[in-house]
Amino acid sequence: MSTLEFWQQKAAALNFEGRAWIGDGYSTAEQGRTLPCINPANGDKLTDIADCSEADVDRAVGLARAAFKRGDWSQRTPAERRAVLERFADLVAEHTEELALLETLDMGKPIGDSLAFDLPQTEHCLRFYAGALETQTDEILPTGKNVLATVTREPVGVVAAVVPWNFPLMITCWKLAPALACGNSVIVKPAEQSSLSAIRLAALAAEAGIPAGVFQVLPGQGRITGQALGLHMDIDCLTFTGSTLTGKRFMAYAAQSNLKRVWLECGGKSPQIVFADSQQLERAAACAAAAIFVNQGEVCIAASRLYVEDAIYDEFVQLLLEQARQYQPGAPLDPASRAGAMVDQLQFDRVVSGVKDAVAAGARTLTDTALIGTQGAGWYLNPTILECDDNSNPVMREELFGPVLGVCRFHSEEEVVALANDSDYGLGAGLWTDNLGRAHRVSHQLQAGMVWVNSYADGDITVPFGGRKQSGFGRDKSIHAMDKYSDLKSTWIDLSH
Ligand code: NAD
Repeated sequence: MSTLEFWQQKAAALNFEGRAWIGDGYSTAEQGRTLPCINPANGDKLTDIADCSEADVDRAVGLARAAFKRGDWSQRTPAERRAVLERFADLVAEHTEELALLETLDMGKPIGDSLAFDLPQTEHCLRFYAGALETQTDEILPTGKNVLATVTREPVGVVAAVVPWNFPLMITCWKLAPALACGNSVIVKPAEQSSLSAIRLAALAAEAGIPAGVFQVLPGQGRITGQALGLHMDIDCLTFTGSTLTGKRFMAYAAQSNLKRVWLECGGKSPQIVFADSQQLERAAACAAAAIFVNQGEVCIAASRLYVEDAIYDEFVQLLLEQARQYQPGAPLDPASRAGAMVDQLQFDRVVSGVKDAVAAGARTLTDTALIGTQGAGWYLNPTILECDDNSNPVMREELFGPVLGVCRFHSEEEVVALANDSDYGLGAGLWTDNLGRAHRVSHQLQAGMVWVNSYADGDITVPFGGRKQSGFGRDKSIHAMDKYSDLKSTWIDLSH
């Protein structure tokens, strides 16, 4: 229905706001410092964004704490908070096209994905936690006749959320929505590459009735703004999604400062296994391609390792190659594009050099397309499939965060479970089988926070999302996420006197 021209015209009419949102309005960073905000589709500068300093972080934390103490959010009844969060979700829905455009222009994903996935997920997340907050109940424990012991939930206070660029709005809301629902003040630091939608979100939150200082957005550099949040003595909780390296830094920041609680959703190198007994190989091939090539492969749960049983290996690889062709990158604003531009030059270079390293280490290129492609002045990568003999090749071990799939043959269930678990990461895992016993047995043995049987990457806001091992701990989404942003208080009341 809509066309590239339609979205280009819409984009040309957009106003970009790159200032931080501190207290109750837009704010420049200390000394007016800025960072360029680049459109990865063509390398053009969209605008400048605030480059927040330690002093900006201090100011925002002070306002967040004051708001928490004031109580015009933290002390409101669940029903009142629910009404505001629902208005917030309504406003996100009303601004779907604008927010989807900001997302696509800022980080290069196809506009069709922003509209069909990121925005509905964001809105639904806000609505889910608006509803969930009234379902939280406290406890009275069976301690005996002469005493009443209650366990009540309290908001933790000031929460900082440091988020990545691959699903900027959606991941922001996975943290923001439950933290706000619990009554906290929240400071979001978006990634340098993708701050525009979070800044717009803060203005919509204020319009919905979120009080001053309760939701603030501080764009800036990880090693300055992010680090200042991590080390701050008056932040109670730091919730993070991003690389494992940065996640480890946040644990160190917490140890060096006030022992703030840290929740980490980090990287992955998720395996997908196709057993020869599967009667749905065409579907499995379509899913395996989508699982690595959607969003240009910039997906934490991307199934970037594929293990195929020997008896069907050649047939399956042919099916996979046909599916991969659909993910040739195109203009992000073209609704027909199934993949867009890589987020920036750094990420492009990282993936290109990862492919070169894999080939140098013996991986065979199966894709008949050009290995790496560029288009215009932006950063585009073709879907790439590399065949490996075992897990020793770097493409089977290191997260590249791009459209690159490593494929390996296996001969037995025992062997493939060992191969799948032979990783520092433990985020997602998938398996394809028509054998019910094997489906249960193998899912049970896989070391991953999420396992998909005969599908991959299904999600729902009601279901927890997160990993094990060096993929992190704690869960986004679902009612369980509210545990991260609330404290339990045990109160003993002596009834004997
Ligand atoms: P990144 O770790 O470089 O950056 C993430 C955030 O941390 C950004 O806001 C960045 O500014 C900040 N940051 C960077 N260095 C910092 C430092 N020294 N101190 C404090 N903050 C710092 O990650 P990225 O490249 O933006 O995102 C890609 C990574 O995110 C991949 O590893 C991917 O797997 C992971 N990811 C994980 C999930 C999940 O749910 N597990 C979801 C999406 C992305």
